[in-house]
Amino acid sequence: MDKLLGLLADGQFHSGEDLGEQLGISRAAVWKKLKAIEELGLAVDSVRGKGYRLGSGIELLDNKKIQSNIDVDVRNKSEVHTCFITESTNDLVRNLEPVPAGVTRFCLAEYQAKGRGRRGRVWSSPFGSTISLSALWQNGEGTASLEGLSLAVGLAVVKALETLGARELKLKWPNDVLWQGKKLCGVLLEVHGDPTGECDVVIGIGINVRLSDGQLESVSQPAVDLFRVCGKTVSRNAVAGQLINTLTHLLDGFGQGGFRLFREQWCEYDAYRGKEVTLMASNRSVTGRYMGVDDQGGLLLETVSGLHIFNGGEVSLRQS
Ligand code: ATP
Repeated sequence: MDKLLGLLADGQFHSGEDLGEQLGISRAAVWKKLKAIEELGLAVDSVRGKGYRLGSGIELLDNKKIQSNIDVDVRNKSEVHTCFITESTNDLVRNLEPVPAGVTRFCLAEYQAKGRGRRGRVWSSPFGSTISLSALWQNGEGTASLEGLSLAVGLAVVKALETLGARELKLKWPNDVLWQGKKLCGVLLEVHGDPTGECDVVIGIGINVRLSDGQLESVSQPAVDLFRVCGKTVSRNAVAGQLINTLTHLLDGFGQGGFRLFREQWCEYDAYRGKEVTLMASNRSVTGRYMGVDDQGGLLLETVSGLHIFNGGEVSLRQS
């Protein structure tokens, strides 16, 4: 199927016969694969006498193009893998061979069959329409040193997207990237290992690059893509490269000084500061005025009973 998608990626018509010849399979087998492509959420136009094409075409991930967008200093300490289909890039990035010391591994997929958000929520990543990227960062300082990392990752995403022309981006604690109140990007951090020593930090990032109206409407909260934010097509390979740059620089800085170094910048993008919000955990909720974040990335909430600090984990913020 990846070869067929490679042929159709140009958005031009290809006859069933040509496709079959190039792939060395029968027309019936081509037709079967086209059906499988549609099941991934891609629209295949079929016109009698012309053949098949992929709606507006698609820019497939290309490791060489991604590398050409990565800064030289970052290239030396990163490893980039791309694949077509995986269950979850967060799982993939941990399941490959061990990564050499000092190297950050990045995995990207065209499609995640089981992309996930926090607390078992679903992250939707239609084929070739998003950046689904996971990074594996090895940290020897234990989980306590990771406080605020998920917020800092949101900031790295904003910085990468700004270099590609996105404006008016906001951060919703702890790490969603919003544009005009709609969700453009989600982040899922998973930590495995020793609370006081060596641990693997998996940083999963999903960014909508170009989705159809129907795909955006099917998300269970207002969502947007980069095409709508920038008013033009944005290259997925450029997004991937910039993201690897900003994330690598962020992880270097975070390893030295933690979230404290990024707090001021993070606050510049804070979507809800000073607003009335509700914080929701699995079995309770609390309402108050959102007063920003502390040096560890904890959320400061002023309530009738005083100022309280909430740390990431299982808490979700909603505007009251
Ligand atoms: P929180 O404030 O806890 O982060 P959240 O609802 O944004 O809340 P996440 O775990 O960050 O939760 O993300 C999962 C949610 O994101 C889904 O429940 C869905 O509402 C939304 N979502 C799923 N796929 C997409 C997508 N491609 N674009 C935008 N939003 C999406």
